[in-house]
Amino acid sequence: MRKAGRVVAEMHAKTREAIRPGITTMELDRIARDVLDKRGARSNFLNYHGFPAVICTSPNDMIVHGIPSETVVLQDGDIISIDCGAIIEGYHGDAAYTAGVGDISPEARKIIEVTEASLVAGIQQMVDGNRLTDIGHAVQTIAEAGGYSVVREYVGHAIGTAMHEEPQVPNYGPPGKGPKLRSGMVFAIEPMINMGRPETFLLEDGWSVVTADGSLSVHVEHTIAITDNGPEIYTIP
Ligand code: MG
Ligand code: MG
Repeated sequence: MRKAGRVVAEMHAKTREAIRPGITTMELDRIARDVLDKRGARSNFLNYHGFPAVICTSPNDMIVHGIPSETVVLQDGDIISIDCGAIIEGYHGDAAYTAGVGDISPEARKIIEVTEASLVAGIQQMVDGNRLTDIGHAVQTIAEAGGYSVVREYVGHAIGTAMHEEPQVPNYGPPGKGPKLRSGMVFAIEPMINMGRPETFLLEDGWSVVTADGSLSVHVEHTIAITDNGPEIYTIP
């Protein structure tokens, strides 16, 4: 899983350095595909329930699952969530980041920072002996303290020889509930944080999830293992 995670991290680095006004989201997909090919990795996104690409590209009020397209051209001031996955030797990695395109507003920068901080807070709860809902409670506490709302309909998940394994890992809820966390468990923690209301709306393409109120949304994710020495993030270089 470390190997798969490092491939995902490279997909992040290569797409991140290409993000600029004028680039299409399909071009970002091609860049991510090149990384998979070069590293001998398979895509866990491509053909997943028919998904047509190796990354999800979700700009502005799109929360998750946006389909890369030649007709989606990034504009100065946009924010864009890029979700990437890879399989190496049968093991999966899954991680997302949100970046600004050109110059973004202070409000956009702040919601990205708070969402990143909420992910860090969730990861810090991935300690042997804690309970599953300690993770989501930590995410929710940071996000709501920033004045934002947490998406309920989409959640994180365990990950291993499949991308989505049980249990689900919500980004909200009371602390101290659910299964006990144990060393060796690996989760993809992925806060989806809205500037306005938490409700979501699915577009006609059957994939793209947007905020119901049109407000900005930020999505970040890592694949992390619980170890005897604390959490180990796999989807970093
Ligand atoms: Mg993901
Ligand atoms: Mg995921």
